[in-house]
Amino acid sequence: MFDLLKKFFIQPKTTTTKPKKRNSANIEKEIFDFELSRSEYFNKEYSNDIFKYITKLNKGQKSKEKEFLSIEEKKELKINTRLKVPTNIIPFFIKEKIVNKNPKDLISNLANMIRSKKYLYNEVKKLKKTKNSYYKLSSVGDEKTCIWCKKMDNKVLSVNEDIIKLFNNNCKCDYPRSTTIAIIEG
Ligand SMILES: [Zn+2]
Repeated sequence: MFDLLKKFFIQPKTTTTKPKKRNSANIEKEIFDFELSRSEYFNKEYSNDIFKYITKLNKGQKSKEKEFLSIEEKKELKINTRLKVPTNIIPFFIKEKIVNKNPKDLISNLANMIRSKKYLYNEVKKLKKTKNSYYKLSSVGDEKTCIWCKKMDNKVLSVNEDIIKLFNNNCKCDYPRSTTIAIIEG
């Protein structure tokens, strides 16, 4: 079993990183590490490669994918045979966990998650810089929006609240699409 796919699942060397103080440069890595640690789909051994891949995606650098899974390979992985799945992303996953999933969607959700949480972090940072103490959250409110995000629509928050932590602990969206609205004081 899985003979066809064995070549994709060679274990790479692992590296450990110490937690750093949060800043604009490492915010993406912080969000990524958190999301990866709680995801059941991704093979943590490939953490560095997944991060590199996602960083490229979020920079709009489209990777030139030439090789795609064959129908047989997709059947072996129990994923929809009609999906176009690049072979180079397959090692990123725990194969038992991606049955009936679209690996490409899982990757893009993770990329979007990092982008949107970084966006929220930067928005709050800007508000702090312009001496705003409070702001409101505005959520999209469609069927893709989680209950918590809907509930948080129009809620007033302090700029001193850790926005990333707040979303990490509560938001159940594939990725948050909330925005911030400054409250003008005076
Ligand atoms: Zn949400």
